[in-house]
Amino acid sequence: MSGLPVRPPELLTPWLNTELPWQQDIFEHLSSLERQEKLPHALLLTGSKGLGKARLAASFAAGVLCKASDAEPCGSCEACQLVGGGAHGDFRWVRPEEGKRAIGVDAIRASVSFMQQTPGYGSHKILVVEPAEAMTTAAANALLKTLEEPPGQALLILVSHRAGELPATIRSRCQRFNLPHPTKPTALKWLVDNTSCSAQTAEQAYALSRAQPLTAERLIQGDDLPSIEALTNALGGLLDKTIANQEVLVALGGHDLDVILEAALHSVEQRLYSAAGAAYSRSNFHRRDQILDWLIASRKGVNFGRDVMLPELGRLLTTE
Ligand SMILES: [Zn+2]
Repeated sequence: MSGLPVRPPELLTPWLNTELPWQQDIFEHLSSLERQEKLPHALLLTGSKGLGKARLAASFAAGVLCKASDAEPCGSCEACQLVGGGAHGDFRWVRPEEGKRAIGVDAIRASVSFMQQTPGYGSHKILVVEPAEAMTTAAANALLKTLEEPPGQALLILVSHRAGELPATIRSRCQRFNLPHPTKPTALKWLVDNTSCSAQTAEQAYALSRAQPLTAERLIQGDDLPSIEALTNALGGLLDKTIANQEVLVALGGHDLDVILEAALHSVEQRLYSAAGAAYSRSNFHRRDQILDWLIASRKGVNFGRDVMLPELGRLLTTE
């Protein structure tokens, strides 16, 4: 059904999400604002991918709705049970529909009218938009009216890892909280504790995920480490001219285009930022910008065919 918001299933038990150690300070700060009734109507949670911004949004929203707790959701009261069942009438989560990249105007219009209704259970109507930069221009404009004149009970939480792509008019009406990266030892300890993996696996996943702890967690739990490593090696081989184009294109076959582009970006950036002497190349700046353009276009809903994109990427990585 078009336009209906989709709740990400992994967030249905948000009280399990509160253990991310690097989020404790922001969580406590937000909770203290709420206790003092100083919570702004619109929050913008920013930071790199894989830091747990959506988990923070889910936990905090559930905590606000929870009847039993001032901060972290209890997980057992009526409100928490409804949130857990995806059925809380004052809580709505909007993300791109299955198989789509953009959040369209219909989903936002429906959410705007949801926000204007009187809360049925408690004191807040909560809307999470994730990722907020996926909104089309029309969708962002539809949301803007609510941001300009928020209903008294409204709490809007925008989650974004590319906040620069949001219209300035949206950004300026939100209070922004930028999630910090954990230190490497904190992230590695969390990975080992959380997935029971070995220290070596944690280290490998952390490197492959570009220091994004939740991405690393998914790699470990999804048994994707070997194939992602093969992908990274293939792209690196192209850049370093140690392998030929054809072999690499075969190796890329099983991955989503987005995953391939992210991995290519990582490989290019590694060479840019560790640039010393011969590894330094103006071409890599061009490559980084081009891949970013593709990624942004792809997230805005442009559908690149694999047949077009993979040879194009191969050329970009191998041509000076
Ligand atoms: Zn509760």
